[in-house]
Amino acid sequence: MILILLGPPGAGKGTQAKKIVESRGIPQLSTGDMLRAAISSGSELGDRVKGIMARGELVSDAVIEEIITERIKADDCAGGFILDGAVRTVVQAEMIDRVLASLNRSLDVVIELTVDEDELVNRLNTRIAEAKARGDELRSDDNEETFRKRQAVYREQTAPLIPYYEAQEKLRRVDGMGSIDEVAAKIGEILDKSGEK
Ligand code: AMP
Repeated sequence: MILILLGPPGAGKGTQAKKIVESRGIPQLSTGDMLRAAISSGSELGDRVKGIMARGELVSDAVIEEIITERIKADDCAGGFILDGAVRTVVQAEMIDRVLASLNRSLDVVIELTVDEDELVNRLNTRIAEAKARGDELRSDDNEETFRKRQAVYREQTAPLIPYYEAQEKLRRVDGMGSIDEVAAKIGEILDKSGEK
């Protein structure tokens, strides 16, 4: 099962990806996590992307191609994987289709989590307040201004993937504003159906 989780920042893609990892035993490929790991390790790639990420902009398609192509070929991806926030432009979607085709594989399903932006901002501010109360360190892009910027970037650069995958008849929509378990249950039904094909 190869699937993409699509949806704006804060929609719960990462949370749902982790649920799928548990229930289906396939890995979560999050380019955001890979890039944050590169920054923490102080690598040259990390230095290159640090400022871009802090501003809430997208890193280049070439960087994503570099980090995702090898990852997809790793042994633990043989039984499938979840692309979590890893496809954010049409150029990247075409690149993923190409890489999968070269491996005689293809995408099974794309799940879009639909959300209400104002409600997401409320959730973000609650999360920031809770993290501060615990004394946790915040992500460099965890503030309302950058979050709003990331929403705009999603609308402009990532939302065009919706018609792209609709045309491939792979897009399924799930209301992302329910509880974590409600959303997970709806995703589970879609994955069961895709697996039956
Ligand atoms: P995320 O954790 O998925 O929200 O990603 C955090 C940040 O990493 C994004 O705001 C981008 O700056 C960068 N990023 C992650 N994945 C991608 C991608 N596929 N294309 C471009 N930029 C990305």
